[in-house]
Amino acid sequence: MFFADRKKKAQALVKSADADALLITHLPDVRYLCGFTGSNAALAFYGRRVVLFTDGRYTTQARQEAVGARVVIAKKSALREACAWLETAGATRCGFDAGHTTVAALDAMREMVSGKLRRRFFLPLQSPIAKIREVKDAGEIALMRESALLGCRLYEHILGFIAAGISETAVAAELEYAARLAGAEAMSFDTIVASGLRSALPHGHATGARLPRNGFLTLDFGVILNGYCSDMTRTVYLGRASETERGVYDAVLAAQEAAVAAVAPGATCGDVDEAARSVLRQAKLDRWFTHSTGHGVGLEIHEGPRIAAAQQQKLEPGMVITIEPGVYMEGKFGIRIEDMVLVTATGHEVLTPAPKAWTTL
Ligand code: ZN
Ligand code: ZN
Repeated sequence: MFFADRKKKAQALVKSADADALLITHLPDVRYLCGFTGSNAALAFYGRRVVLFTDGRYTTQARQEAVGARVVIAKKSALREACAWLETAGATRCGFDAGHTTVAALDAMREMVSGKLRRRFFLPLQSPIAKIREVKDAGEIALMRESALLGCRLYEHILGFIAAGISETAVAAELEYAARLAGAEAMSFDTIVASGLRSALPHGHATGARLPRNGFLTLDFGVILNGYCSDMTRTVYLGRASETERGVYDAVLAAQEAAVAAVAPGATCGDVDEAARSVLRQAKLDRWFTHSTGHGVGLEIHEGPRIAAAQQQKLEPGMVITIEPGVYMEGKFGIRIEDMVLVTATGHEVLTPAPKAWTTL
């Protein structure tokens, strides 16, 4: 039933874009619209017809997975055959995703349309399905809850493993192994394990560096479960912290909680960003907060909306965003705390309720 609703939204988009057809090739969009998870697909919409073009590797899988779309196994190119079909079916103006189509692919698409139609046939749209995907439906929210909770369980697991002297890559390996055992299809992105001085790198991927006796450890990781990404960050302390270290941690936590509290339908993304930034400004730490406050998450790890300074976009019920302010003092240490937050009809719900008060190991 969710697929039928999503299909309707795509069809409405075709009309509002002043087109009569739509070609979707970005794989997460294809999955969103019809459930197909293969690595080669072109989903063509014309009138009430929806056709999924893929190749011979996916003959069985496409028939099993695709909902509400006829499956065509292309002999050579799924993309080219989709374009040829659209013209034959009667389409004259076809929206396509300019954000995910290479110049070479567009040339190949054009070649399949006959001369008299070709000039006006393809209409570039800016990531049309991405906009629809910003608001999750009930089916997606149920899956994202599970994915986020698995992340929380893994965090608890890894706390029992962390100790001074262990390498960052060993921590990442243990986390990822446990994730796979628990049913994760993959990690949402390269696991970030950044310890000691390296915690000051906002995106410090795990290296051979050993966890310090005294210092911060930032863990930023996510799992993909049933196609949906989780994303969370916790920063813990190994050993005995200085007063400064505690003070900065408390400020980041206060900023993070202020931004979470600001999440509600109708609030602008800029308001939520400012809620975090103003706390760090008061603590004279804002110059170390060098990125935006958060991002949408779903089938992909980074989706809309952007939770950043001056963003006028308003939050809507069903959006799932991250709130992840951080402070990175080069040559010293860094701290980031990140939750996934669902915008509800009346406010918000944190999907990653793992502890984030000061944790010493
Ligand atoms: Zn993250
Ligand atoms: Zn994130």
